[in-house]
Amino acid sequence: MSERVIVTVACGVCKNRNYYFDRCKKQDGKLLLSKFCKNCGKHTDHNETK
Ligand SMILES: [Zn+2]
Repeated sequence: MSERVIVTVACGVCKNRNYYFDRCKKQDGKLLLSKFCKNCGKHTDHNETK
């Protein structure tokens, strides 16, 4: 039985919430991903947010 949580990641530049993931709650460490932000029009660092 694994408990999963929805994680939202937001663009580090414009704070637009672009992506959602579900992941195991036991997994720790902050997400830091390079993702395409359509608001910025380029790849930016995306951070986990609540
Ligand atoms: Zn952005």
